Amino acid sequence: MDISDTLAAELRSQFEGLEPDLRFRDEAQAMHACELALQSLLAGTYGVGALVMDDRHRVWAESGNEVLSGRFDSAAHAEMRVFDQLEARENKPPSQTLSLLVTLEPCPMCLSRALYAGIGEIIYLVEDGEGGMAHLRDHLPPALRELAQLCRFRRADVSAPLRELARQLSRAGLQAHREELMHQRAS
Ligand SMILES: [Zn+2]
Repeated sequence: MDISDTLAAELRSQFEGLEPDLRFRDEAQAMHACELALQSLLAGTYGVGALVMDDRHRVWAESGNEVLSGRFDSAAHAEMRVFDQLEARENKPPSQTLSLLVTLEPCPMCLSRALYAGIGEIIYLVEDGEGGMAHLRDHLPPALRELAQLCRFRRADVSAPLRELARQLSRAGLQAHREELMHQRAS
Protein backbone atom coordinates (compact mmCIF):
# COMPACT_ATOMS: atom_id res chain seq x y z
CA MET A 1 0.00 0.00 0.00
CA ASP A 2 1.43 3.36 -0.97
CA ILE A 3 1.06 6.74 0.58
CA SER A 4 -1.51 8.99 -1.01
CA ASP A 5 -0.54 10.78 -4.20
CA THR A 6 -1.44 14.09 -2.62
CA LEU A 7 0.93 13.58 0.29
CA ALA A 8 3.70 12.35 -2.01
CA ALA A 9 3.29 15.36 -4.29
CA GLU A 10 3.24 17.69 -1.32
CA LEU A 11 6.45 16.30 0.17
CA ARG A 12 8.15 16.29 -3.20
CA SER A 13 7.31 19.94 -3.80
CA GLN A 14 8.40 20.80 -0.25
CA PHE A 15 11.74 19.18 -0.95
CA GLU A 16 12.11 20.90 -4.31
CA GLY A 17 11.19 24.26 -2.83
CA LEU A 18 13.69 24.00 0.00
CA GLU A 19 16.69 26.31 -0.26
CA PRO A 20 19.55 24.74 1.67
CA ASP A 21 20.87 27.12 4.32
CA LEU A 22 24.59 26.49 4.17
CA ARG A 23 25.30 28.37 7.38
CA PHE A 24 24.46 25.04 9.03
CA ARG A 25 27.35 22.63 8.74
CA ASP A 26 25.34 19.46 7.98
CA GLU A 27 22.80 21.14 5.69
CA ALA A 28 24.12 19.98 2.30
CA GLN A 29 24.63 16.34 3.29
CA ALA A 30 21.37 16.29 5.24
CA MET A 31 19.58 17.63 2.18
CA HIS A 32 20.97 14.70 0.24
CA ALA A 33 19.88 12.26 2.95
CA CYS A 34 16.38 13.76 2.76
CA GLU A 35 16.40 13.25 -0.99
CA LEU A 36 17.20 9.56 -0.42
CA ALA A 37 14.39 9.43 2.16
CA LEU A 38 11.96 11.00 -0.30
CA GLN A 39 12.90 8.48 -2.99
CA SER A 40 12.28 5.63 -0.56
CA LEU A 41 8.93 7.03 0.43
CA LEU A 42 7.90 7.42 -3.20
CA ALA A 43 9.00 3.81 -3.78
CA GLY A 44 6.48 2.65 -1.17
CA THR A 45 8.67 2.15 1.87
CA TYR A 46 9.78 4.12 4.94
CA GLY A 47 10.97 7.67 4.30
CA VAL A 48 14.42 7.38 5.85
CA GLY A 49 17.77 8.13 4.22
CA ALA A 50 21.34 7.67 5.42
CA LEU A 51 24.90 8.23 4.32
CA VAL A 52 28.42 7.81 5.61
CA MET A 53 30.80 10.72 5.15
CA ASP A 54 34.34 11.63 6.13
CA ASP A 55 35.43 14.82 7.88
CA ARG A 56 35.65 16.61 4.52
CA HIS A 57 32.02 15.71 3.87
CA ARG A 58 32.94 13.26 1.15
CA VAL A 59 30.23 10.59 0.92
CA TRP A 60 31.42 6.96 0.98
CA ALA A 61 28.06 5.16 0.99
CA GLU A 62 24.42 6.20 0.80
CA SER A 63 20.99 4.61 0.73
CA GLY A 64 17.35 5.02 1.51
CA ASN A 65 15.20 2.48 3.31
CA GLU A 66 14.39 -0.56 1.12
CA VAL A 67 12.32 -2.73 3.47
CA LEU A 68 9.10 -2.58 1.44
CA SER A 69 10.25 -1.21 -1.91
CA GLY A 70 11.17 -4.56 -3.45
CA ARG A 71 10.94 -8.05 -2.05
CA PHE A 72 10.25 -7.72 1.69
CA ASP A 73 13.59 -7.33 3.46
CA SER A 74 13.36 -6.69 7.17
CA ALA A 75 17.07 -5.82 7.38
CA ALA A 76 16.96 -3.20 4.64
CA HIS A 77 16.94 -0.13 6.87
CA ALA A 78 18.85 2.74 5.27
CA GLU A 79 21.72 2.50 7.76
CA MET A 80 22.11 -1.27 7.25
CA ARG A 81 22.30 -0.77 3.48
CA VAL A 82 24.89 1.96 3.97
CA PHE A 83 27.13 -0.26 6.10
CA ASP A 84 26.78 -3.14 3.62
CA GLN A 85 27.98 -0.78 0.88
CA LEU A 86 30.75 0.70 2.95
CA GLU A 87 32.13 -2.66 4.01
CA ALA A 88 32.07 -3.91 0.42
CA ARG A 89 34.41 -1.10 -0.65
CA GLU A 90 38.08 -1.89 -1.13
CA ASN A 91 39.66 1.42 -0.27
CA LYS A 92 38.04 3.39 2.46
CA PRO A 93 39.07 5.48 5.44
CA PRO A 94 39.13 3.85 8.89
CA SER A 95 35.57 3.65 10.19
CA GLN A 96 36.51 5.59 13.33
CA THR A 97 37.08 8.63 11.10
CA LEU A 98 33.65 8.37 9.47
CA SER A 99 30.25 9.74 10.43
CA LEU A 100 26.85 8.19 9.85
CA LEU A 101 24.29 10.85 8.98
CA VAL A 102 20.68 9.65 9.06
CA THR A 103 17.38 11.48 8.78
CA LEU A 104 15.83 9.60 11.71
CA GLU A 105 17.36 8.42 14.98
CA PRO A 106 18.62 4.84 14.47
CA CYS A 107 16.61 1.88 15.77
CA PRO A 108 18.24 -0.76 18.04
CA MET A 109 19.30 -2.92 15.06
CA CYS A 110 20.97 -0.07 13.18
CA LEU A 111 22.52 1.48 16.25
CA SER A 112 24.08 -1.88 17.15
CA ARG A 113 25.29 -2.32 13.58
CA ALA A 114 26.88 1.13 13.59
CA LEU A 115 28.66 0.34 16.85
CA TYR A 116 29.86 -3.06 15.62
CA ALA A 117 31.02 -1.35 12.41
CA GLY A 118 33.11 1.00 14.56
CA ILE A 119 31.70 4.22 13.14
CA GLY A 120 33.16 7.32 14.78
CA GLU A 121 30.06 9.47 14.95
CA ILE A 122 26.30 9.15 14.64
CA ILE A 123 24.35 12.22 13.54
CA TYR A 124 20.58 12.31 13.10
CA LEU A 125 18.08 14.96 12.13
CA VAL A 126 15.00 13.81 14.00
CA GLU A 127 14.57 12.03 17.33
CA ASP A 128 12.48 8.89 17.31
CA GLY A 129 10.81 8.50 20.69
CA GLU A 130 8.92 5.42 19.49
CA GLY A 131 11.66 3.35 17.92
CA GLY A 132 14.97 5.16 18.37
CA MET A 133 17.78 3.70 20.43
CA ALA A 134 20.41 6.45 20.46
CA HIS A 135 18.76 8.27 23.37
CA LEU A 136 18.46 4.93 25.20
CA ARG A 137 22.03 3.81 24.58
CA ASP A 138 22.72 3.63 28.33
CA HIS A 139 20.35 0.65 28.31
CA LEU A 140 22.32 -1.39 25.77
CA PRO A 141 24.02 -4.60 26.94
CA PRO A 142 27.41 -3.89 28.55
CA ALA A 143 29.53 -4.84 25.52
CA LEU A 144 27.59 -2.50 23.26
CA ARG A 145 27.52 0.21 25.87
CA GLU A 146 31.28 0.06 25.90
CA LEU A 147 31.37 0.45 22.12
CA ALA A 148 28.95 3.36 22.40
CA GLN A 149 31.49 5.13 24.61
CA LEU A 150 33.83 5.19 21.60
CA CYS A 151 31.21 6.82 19.38
CA ARG A 152 30.09 10.44 19.36
CA PHE A 153 26.39 11.20 19.08
CA ARG A 154 24.80 14.46 18.06
CA ARG A 155 21.76 16.05 16.50
CA ALA A 156 22.43 17.26 12.96
CA ASP A 157 23.25 20.94 12.55
CA VAL A 158 20.59 21.84 9.97
CA SER A 159 17.98 24.53 9.32
CA ALA A 160 14.54 24.18 10.92
CA PRO A 161 12.69 23.65 7.61
CA LEU A 162 15.01 20.80 6.63
CA ARG A 163 14.58 19.10 10.01
CA GLU A 164 10.82 19.50 9.68
CA LEU A 165 10.92 17.93 6.23
CA ALA A 166 12.91 14.96 7.60
CA ARG A 167 10.31 14.60 10.34
CA GLN A 168 7.44 14.59 7.87
CA LEU A 169 9.22 12.13 5.58
CA SER A 170 9.74 9.73 8.49
CA ARG A 171 6.08 9.91 9.51
CA ALA A 172 4.40 9.76 6.12
CA GLY A 173 2.74 6.47 5.31
CA LEU A 174 3.51 4.92 8.70
CA GLN A 175 0.06 3.39 9.01
CA ALA A 176 0.21 1.88 5.52
CA HIS A 177 3.70 0.52 6.19
CA ARG A 178 2.61 -0.98 9.50
CA GLU A 179 -0.24 -2.78 7.76
CA GLU A 180 2.19 -4.08 5.16
CA LEU A 181 4.48 -5.41 7.91
CA MET A 182 1.53 -7.14 9.60
CA HIS A 183 0.62 -8.65 6.25
CA GLN A 184 4.19 -9.98 5.93
CA ARG A 185 3.94 -11.59 9.36
CA ALA A 186 0.76 -13.38 8.40
CA SER A 187 1.90 -14.64 5.01
ZN1 LIG B 1 17.09 0.70 11.74
